[in-house]
Amino acid sequence: MPLESSNSVFIAVFFPCTYLKDSYYGFEVNDKIPVRYCIKCGRNLEKKEIEGKKRYCCPDCGWVHYKNPLPSVACVVRKDDCVLLIKRGVAPDIGKWALPSGFLEDDESPVEGCIRELEEETGLHGRVKRLLDVDNEESSIYGNVLVIGYEIEIIGGELRAGSDTLEVKFFPVNNLPLIPFESHLRILKRAIETFTT
Ligand SMILES: [Zn+2]
Repeated sequence: MPLESSNSVFIAVFFPCTYLKDSYYGFEVNDKIPVRYCIKCGRNLEKKEIEGKKRYCCPDCGWVHYKNPLPSVACVVRKDDCVLLIKRGVAPDIGKWALPSGFLEDDESPVEGCIRELEEETGLHGRVKRLLDVDNEESSIYGNVLVIGYEIEIIGGELRAGSDTLEVKFFPVNNLPLIPFESHLRILKRAIETFTT
């Protein structure tokens, strides 16, 4: 390994605080997902005011890092007076209950993502009954997350804990466990208020 690379590794391993200093790379340490380099040409980004906001942009090719919410979907599955929840197996809030949910892939629609996430996390096949609400929430890991909530009708599959889940269970709507996500609570509330028989 060349001496320069070796030094870089040494600095990164033993002086992580230096690497994370605001002024070192020109990004804010409280950014949930900091972008330090241009994704087109690799140059270090610089902060500039664009359209009234400070944004990171590339001094070489002009690429601008627009920070946008991360789109996700959440599923409300009803059985009689109960709704389906999953016990989370991944951060944030491992071990807490939530709606089956996840981030959209680049090549799928919100409806497709919702059906996929439900199947991955619970083993159930479903189809969208209706759009419940579109909400957003600040995540401790991902920043601003957009949450699209659908009510799902089950058409097959077998209930089981899938990827990213520790447990799956139907809970009576009047006796729900602690759910740490405000957006899920609001989507659930909207669903329960408007459940049709
Ligand atoms: Zn660039």
